[in-house]
Amino acid sequence: KKIIVAIDGHSSCGKSTMAKALAKEIGYIYVDTGAMYRAVTLFALRRGFFHGSDIDAPALEAAMGEVRVNFQLDAATGLPLVCLNGEVVENEIRGMEVSSRVSPIAALPFVRIAMTRQQQEMGREKGIVMDGRDIGTAVFPNAELKVFVTASAEVRARRRYDELIAKGQQVDFNEILKNVEERDYIDSHRELNPLRQADDALVLDNSTLTREEQSQWLLDAFKH
Ligand code: C5P
Repeated sequence: KKIIVAIDGHSSCGKSTMAKALAKEIGYIYVDTGAMYRAVTLFALRRGFFHGSDIDAPALEAAMGEVRVNFQLDAATGLPLVCLNGEVVENEIRGMEVSSRVSPIAALPFVRIAMTRQQQEMGREKGIVMDGRDIGTAVFPNAELKVFVTASAEVRARRRYDELIAKGQQVDFNEILKNVEERDYIDSHRELNPLRQADDALVLDNSTLTREEQSQWLLDAFKH
């Protein structure tokens, strides 16, 4: 019987790598909910709804009907690519510009309500691994398997730094560390569905684990 696997945790803790590996191994669909909030942020940037670091929330709310976020399967890898109004925006959403603005956007209740509804729709068919911040607490409080992943802020910033450098982006380690800490703070202090560990989640601190060890841990958790 297929189930829902909810994987939550702090920014850049390796959730998505683990979640993707598990989905592939067990033949489930993988959904990256962070990518959805990032796509909404890209929309807001393109439409000029940011003024410095302020967001014109009423303008974004009025335009929400024009935001269509969905996933397209990449023929080469079989992995879902996030689309904004039909355009694949995987690369645009991973840079610092979106990363530094996504948490305030994700804190807006009308944004969360719209995304949560869509995520719940995707989970009507079981056999899904979904990662995010509030999957086990708000999107699927009845998920059969919940995992909460964490690692120290330094370890997480280092991983994100290595990833962006490998992609050829110019980044500064301290800026990334600051971004990781800021997102942790905003994500865990927002009013609607803040980041927190579900009472019935299995907890994994992966600060000192390799990718293979993390994936094995998750696969074992799934099998039990
Ligand atoms: O997972 P990722 O780092 O790509 O998520 C980007 C941002 O989206 C997070 O920092 C958080 O502010 C927001 N997010 C959220 N709820 C989720 C997933 C992501 O608020 N379920």
